[in-house]
Formats: sequence, C-alpha cells, structure tokens
Amino acid sequence: MPDIQEEHSKDSDDPAQAGLVPCRYCGEMIKAIARKCRHCREYLDEELRAENRAGSVASTTDRLLMPVDRPLSAIAAGYLGLLSLLPLFGILAIAFGFYALSVLKKNPTLIGRGRAIFGIVMGILFTLLYGAGIVSIAMGY
Ligand SMILES: [Zn+2]
Repeated sequence: MPDIQEEHSKDSDDPAQAGLVPCRYCGEMIKAIARKCRHCREYLDEELRAENRAGSVASTTDRLLMPVDRPLSAIAAGYLGLLSLLPLFGILAIAFGFYALSVLKKNPTLIGRGRAIFGIVMGILFTLLYGAGIVSIAMGY
C-alpha cells in the first residue's frame, strides 16, 4: 500500500510546503487532510472519532495487539484463507474476513483489505466445495 508508506517518509519535509498542520490533540505536525493523527492515533474527523469512541472493544483490542497498520483480524483472515483447504476453516476465514473488513472500515488508516478479501473468497470457495461434496455424498446414499 504505497499511499500509507509515503506518509511516513515525509517527516523531514517543510511543514508548510507539505500541507501540514499541528494535531489538535498532541501538537505533532500531521497532514491537513489526515483523518487520523499518526502520532497519537486520535481521530481528527469528528464523525470517525465519535464512531471510534462508541466502537467495539474488539477493534480496540486489534490496535493493542497489532501496533502496525494491519489489524490482527485481517492477518487471521489471510491465514485462514489458506487453511480453508481444510473443512470448517473456510467458515472461520469468511467470519474473520468480514470482521476485518468492518475493522478496516472504522480505521481508514489501517491496511490489510487484500488479506481480508482473500480470506472471504477462499473461505466461500472451499466452503461451497465441501458443501457440494457433502450434498453429493448425501444424495448418493
Ligand atoms: Zn496527535
């Protein structure tokens, strides 16, 4: 995700030139258009901020467990997508995938959408395959 990385490499730029403003919560220089401060992780967008305050405990746990910009649920969805070659893991992959997408929706600065979608796609694919297998066995008898 180059757009996220780019932001981190601009630390030394001239603040005015780079369109930076001080964060209203911690005072660090951040992009004027940023919706979330990357220093104190406060939401600058009031709507997002309110949503985050009222947000689920799970998304908070995600951030605590994974200080990097990818929620744990997205990583889990990615691995479960691979494991969905095995029965039942596909269902978990779908569940984690959709959960990860909801976390990513609430936290626009996080990455990991690809993994979440991968988990969902693989999960659905293999769940259908196993489902079809079970049905055909049942019909066969
Ligand atoms: Zn801040």
